[in-house]
Amino acid sequence: MKTLRKQISLTILLTLLITIALIGLASNLLINREFEKYIAKTGQERRDNIADELESQYDEFKRSWKLDYVHAIGMNSLYDGYIIKLYDADGNMVWDAENHDMRLCGQIMNDISARMKERGAKGGFVDHTYELTQNGKKTGSVSIKYYGPFFMNEADFNFIRVMNIVLLVIGVLSSICAVVVGCVLGSRISRPVTKTAYIAKQISTGNYELKFEPGTRIKELDDLGIAINHLSGALSEQERLRKRLTADVAHELRTPLTALGSHLEAMTEGLWDATPERLKSCHEEVKRLGTLVADLEQLARIEGDSFCLKKGSMDLYSAVCQAAENMTGEINKKKLALSIKGEPVFVDGDKNRMGQVFSNLLSNAVKYTPEGGSIRISVSDIKGNGVVTIEDTGIGIRKEELPLIFERFYRTDQSRNRKTGGAGIGLTIVKSIVEAHGGTIVAESKEESGSCFTVSIPKSGS
Ligand code: ADP
Repeated sequence: MKTLRKQISLTILLTLLITIALIGLASNLLINREFEKYIAKTGQERRDNIADELESQYDEFKRSWKLDYVHAIGMNSLYDGYIIKLYDADGNMVWDAENHDMRLCGQIMNDISARMKERGAKGGFVDHTYELTQNGKKTGSVSIKYYGPFFMNEADFNFIRVMNIVLLVIGVLSSICAVVVGCVLGSRISRPVTKTAYIAKQISTGNYELKFEPGTRIKELDDLGIAINHLSGALSEQERLRKRLTADVAHELRTPLTALGSHLEAMTEGLWDATPERLKSCHEEVKRLGTLVADLEQLARIEGDSFCLKKGSMDLYSAVCQAAENMTGEINKKKLALSIKGEPVFVDGDKNRMGQVFSNLLSNAVKYTPEGGSIRISVSDIKGNGVVTIEDTGIGIRKEELPLIFERFYRTDQSRNRKTGGAGIGLTIVKSIVEAHGGTIVAESKEESGSCFTVSIPKSGS
């Protein structure tokens, strides 16, 4: 399998090579065609020029040709690839390049045809005769022999050669650039991808410490890294909760089991008499275990996938009153002053579950409020929500512990010290039920002054 870096470099290189080849081919064809047209045109102009120059070498008064000049023009033309023959008006030969230097003519003709054949041009030597006149009178004629339809001299060939070399150099330089750019781009993309893959691998082995640092300047890659970080955070939190849950359950079971075990051991070994008080204490521990298991079962049911509420129109006010009535015994025992204010507020909810919410909150208020304290409950309709507040003048909760009280098994230091008995699951159940209704629960508290729990349930249902 190819690496991302190699893949990108190769793709860029291939694209560039194809582009260069196409541009090279097209420009070569186009330039060649235009260049050939240009060469043919300049050839024609040169021949016309030779004829014009020769025409002016006739001396009308002496009725003869200026042979020195004719020779110079003829030799010049020969070096340019034009073999001329000059005749007078009667058709007599005046100057003939081939007669003058047969060997040079042959060599030049051979060079030109070899060069043009090498280029693959189809053509051959042709003659063109120009009539020469002066003041409207024929003075002679010139026959120009050249490689037709056009031919290129050494400089023309050089031009084409240099152009091809330039194209080749551009091609090579562009290919090197493509490889460099491909490598840089490839590594800029592949490095974060490799790192993300490495982090994901580490997560799968349970190592959540590694984090992806955004800053690749490629949005999708940063998003990928951030998503992996979120995944790592969520998995780590799950892992932490799972471990804590096991530890908490073990801890909660150990206390009553140890007490129960030591009491029963002392009684079976005859160290203690099985008095009704001792047996009652054992029964209390068994009851505590039973309550804990029941709470856990309930929480598992509420948090389970198959949990569903039996919703209907229900009055929060009467649900609160019912919960308070069920608590009358304990409230009276602690001589607490209870007041319930408000009016009936109907919401779309599960009557039994909401009853459980208020029972748990009220039970906590009773549990954590010292004798002679007071509990105030109010039910109101605020912005389309049924809002219930349960306020007590109890021991309160420290500010830093407030966000934790809804976590399972969490108990504040104050409640642990006072051995109030709960396992720290009640509020977790409350929060789950409220949220299942699409509502919210907020706790406010001041240490040693009291706490206030506000439950808000949407009237239209979730
Ligand atoms: P528990 O069964 O221990 O009461 P909860 O989940 O109901 O468990 O409550 C969690 C913890 O929150 C309690 O242990 C207690 O420390 C604190 N708490 C809850 N309600 C009150 C309250 N009204 N006043 C003071 N502390 C409270």
